[in-house]
Amino acid sequence: MHFPYCLAKCPYCDFTSFATPREEIPHAGYADAVIAELHRRAAGLAGRQTATVFFGGGTPSLWDPAELGRVLAAILARFPPVPDVEITAECNPSSLDEARARALVAAGVNRLSVGVQSLDRQRLSFLGRLHDPPGALRAVEAALASGARVSADLIFGVQGGAPQSAEAAADEAGRVVDLGLSHVSAYGLTIEPGTRFGDLHRKGRLPVAPDELIMSAFDAVGAALAARGLRRYEVSNYAKPGAEARHNLRYWQGHEYLGLGCAAVGTLAAGIQATRYKNARDPRQYMRLALEGAATEAEVEALDPETRLRERIMLGLRLTAGFDIAQAASDLGVDPLGPDRRRAIDKLVRRRALEVEGTRLRVAPEARHLTDGIAAELF
Ligand code: SF4
Repeated sequence: MHFPYCLAKCPYCDFTSFATPREEIPHAGYADAVIAELHRRAAGLAGRQTATVFFGGGTPSLWDPAELGRVLAAILARFPPVPDVEITAECNPSSLDEARARALVAAGVNRLSVGVQSLDRQRLSFLGRLHDPPGALRAVEAALASGARVSADLIFGVQGGAPQSAEAAADEAGRVVDLGLSHVSAYGLTIEPGTRFGDLHRKGRLPVAPDELIMSAFDAVGAALAARGLRRYEVSNYAKPGAEARHNLRYWQGHEYLGLGCAAVGTLAAGIQATRYKNARDPRQYMRLALEGAATEAEVEALDPETRLRERIMLGLRLTAGFDIAQAASDLGVDPLGPDRRRAIDKLVRRRALEVEGTRLRVAPEARHLTDGIAAELF
């Protein structure tokens, strides 16, 4: 469920999000539109249950919790929840205090993901974030006080503001977890085209961390979190046993998902075929279409089984546990191991980039930072 409004646009962000003053956010209108879209889509999906809901954005913690709760209630009324349903809301420190965290929990949210990003004042300012380090720590504490499961997002490899060493990245990750967290997502800063950082980079005016520093920060963050009992279970995600994000796990395992809201992406399967859709990107256009009961998709793509298998390879290899290629292929009714793919696997095993156990493939720990390239060799 995509909520597209933020208080400001961060210079590295390529998500569909629009800087909007708090008082101009159409809290009730957006909820009405999402509920209308839900009912339109639900007609073809009878009998499904809700395993997880993820309110992402944008900044869902800006949304009036009563309106977010109204959408959640409608989702759960259409698709009854499984007993341990996981319901996550992404939050930014600039819009999360204890009252807001408790209101989200009262609305039915049971997991809060807080965009901390850094605990250094200069790096936060370089990243265009509206909060300062004490504000980030207060937001995490407020989230924990609400009784929800809490995760924090961090960005490492930041060279603007105060250039970050690998040790500093590890120290920031450790300090956040020491507040009592059981889950962290830590991403290297990526420069995306079409963003403010992308433009500055093109003009040679953005300080960028060298690859070796990003790799040593990746290892140092992993070690700091491992020392605190948080295991890397996906390239960029760490959790204490049992605290993994079930929503993200299901995505990486190739489960289907309904996407709701402007710019939301959904993937729905019918047997071995699947359809992926992306909703209109402009919030006003999306709301108009949804409220008229019209189709909200801007793009629709049919996914054949071989394309879906390539996605399962790409996503499954992100997991530390890897994935079972024979099982994935059998779910999709395709041959998992044609001669080319078999040769590519043998080559990767010889290079010690890939480990094979029966039909389960996983990226070797020392090659984890090369995951995307390894997956591409298996396409
Ligand atoms: S708060 Fe998040 S979604 Fe909004 S602009 Fe910043 S990075 Fe993008």
